Amino acid sequence: MQLDSLQHKGLRQRLLQTLYAKGVSDERVLTAMGSVPRHFFLESGLDKIAYDDKALPIGAGQTISQPHTVAWQTQLLNVAQGEKTLEIGTGSGYQAAVLCELGADVYSIERQRVLHGKAKSLLTQMGYRLTLIYGDGFEGLPEHAPFAKIIVTCGAGHIPQPLLNQLAVGGRMVIPVQDGNSLYMFVFDRVSETEIRQTKLKECAFVPMLQGVS
Ligand code: SAH
Repeated sequence: MQLDSLQHKGLRQRLLQTLYAKGVSDERVLTAMGSVPRHFFLESGLDKIAYDDKALPIGAGQTISQPHTVAWQTQLLNVAQGEKTLEIGTGSGYQAAVLCELGADVYSIERQRVLHGKAKSLLTQMGYRLTLIYGDGFEGLPEHAPFAKIIVTCGAGHIPQPLLNQLAVGGRMVIPVQDGNSLYMFVFDRVSETEIRQTKLKECAFVPMLQGVS
């Protein structure tokens, strides 16, 4: 694990100001992101740019999401203390750490074995308690369902029906989905056993959600 120096802390505060200026107004989200050293989730050579509002490489051809995207999705998810929350796309583990800081009971699935392994050892070292699974997020985790919240951090070509099925009544899923030629952020709210409301938000950019494991 790297060091969280005064310089890193300063850069992190500046990033929070940038996010606030870009419309992230949820204090809980900003506080959570202020508590997680993003540079721990990146190669040490990237620590000078770890607090730029940019997606950065994490290996296996994947990226850690842009901080503004993490903040936006987390704000939309609106997690409360203790809520069972499923993340698809553990990647570096950064988003999962932010969810832990918000007090969520986090389950996170990753299909790349190397990334799963790295995130597991880092999050454990950092003292986070969560459930990390190596598998295909398209299936969700039926054995742990229902989930109060589901967040997908890769771009889906279609809406994964198993994930909708695993959403609790009153629950919410935030997911980027292909619509026409572009990817858009969607929010799905399960208002009853039989009714789900869908909201289409802005265009966004993510690495693709792929079937199977690697
Ligand atoms: N939340 C991550 C973002 C990583 S990028 C972070 O904070 O770093 C998205 C990740 O989704 C990639 O690691 C990719 O391997 C993973 N992914 C893509 N399709 C998936 C699937 N079907 N199941 C699980 N993970 C998937």
